[in-house]
Formats: sequence, structure tokens, C-alpha cells
Amino acid sequence: MIGCLYPTHAQTALQALHAARLDLIKRIRGLKADASPLPPEQLDKLNRLAASDVQTWVRDEIACAREFGLTIFGGCCGTNQRYIEALAKEVQFQHSHVVGRAHRLGPRAGQSVRAAAAQGES
Ligand SMILES: [Zn+2]
Repeated sequence: MIGCLYPTHAQTALQALHAARLDLIKRIRGLKADASPLPPEQLDKLNRLAASDVQTWVRDEIACAREFGLTIFGGCCGTNQRYIEALAKEVQFQHSHVVGRAHRLGPRAGQSVRAAAAQGES
């Protein structure tokens, strides 16, 4: 499980892990992503919450999940109920379309998809 990392950063890290250690990539099953692509040192200097809009975050989280067959989803720092609801809605919509063409999406595509209700501190 990856936690507290923006989805595109997690995706980049997983691509590097995939290239370096194919045996380890199979152990990553989920992503509990934070809401901002800014680096921590930049976030620390802000006096306001910096977060991607909900639809961008959902799109980025699902793109990472699809590339690496992740089946557990959640939100961390900067996310709230709106993010989780939008993610759950999109995962359910995509899952209903994934089952019919699972052979094109990889070995885990037919597994049940769970949208974790885990929310981060906001
Ligand atoms: Zn966090």
C-alpha cells in the first residue's frame, strides 16, 4: 500500500520500481493518495490547503491504479468526503465497464474493486 503521495508521483515511483524490481511491484496493491502534487517542502511554506480539484485527483488516482493493477483506493492528506465519493463513483462506473473486457486490462482486472473509505486528515 502506498500512502500520502500524489497519484502521479506514485505512478512515477511505481514505474521506476517496475523497471528495477519486477518482483516487488506485485506486492503493491493500493494507493491512499494525498491531494496535492506539490512537494512537502513547498506545502510546508503555505498558509492554505493546496489540493488538486476532485476530478483531476480521481483521474490521476485511477490512471495509476489501472497501470499497476491496484485494487484498493483511498485518500490521504488534503482529501475529504468529496474526493472519496467521486473516486468511489468513478471506480464503480469503470468497474462496470472493466468486467466485460477484462482480458485487455491485465490479470487483476476481473477482481473486485474496492474503494476504501479511508480518508486522510484535511
Ligand atoms: Zn497524508
